[in-house]
Amino acid sequence: MSNILAIVGRPNVGKSTLFNRLIEQKKAIMDNVSGVTRDRHYGFGEWTGKYFTVIDTGGYVHGSEDTFEGAIREQVELAIEEADVLLFVVDCHTGITDLDKDFANVLRRSKKPVYVAANKADTFEKGLMAAEFYELGLSEPFAISAENGSGTGDLLDGIVSHF
Ligand code: GDP
Ligand code: MG
Repeated sequence: MSNILAIVGRPNVGKSTLFNRLIEQKKAIMDNVSGVTRDRHYGFGEWTGKYFTVIDTGGYVHGSEDTFEGAIREQVELAIEEADVLLFVVDCHTGITDLDKDFANVLRRSKKPVYVAANKADTFEKGLMAAEFYELGLSEPFAISAENGSGTGDLLDGIVSHF
């Protein structure tokens, strides 16, 4: 496989919602063998004529989800290894959490491009929160709403520039 985008982030930030949006966009086909490999969901997306595979990490972690060590760390390290581009989802409703910082510390060390999606920016006002995520020391955050789709086009323009 090539052109792999992995969606990473702590639980409940909206990874799966975004995954579903990215793969349904442009009538991408859902992979029927999803979930069979390494406990991940795979889907296919297309944007401006570029085709890519999307991996939804997380949601399949057993045990505690509020500490970074163990399954969550393993998941993000595997994603870094597997992906060409990483999409780190954070939540404008909660702002930066300690778990976000743990993810950011690992992602910062990866040599892969990392996009930051400040999700749940459903309104313009909520979108202003996105700037807070500059503090993570990664790239410029994109204010998006996985739920209503706002901001996802600009984000995808950036992502597919690597494919
Ligand atoms: P995951 O655990 O990171 O995969 O998160 P989910 O995709 O399961 O979403 C967690 C919760 O956040 C659900 O209740 C979603 O409906 C909600 N959610 C996801 N995206 C958005 C969004 O853009 N705006 C708002 N308001 N809620 C969202
Ligand atoms: Mg999920």
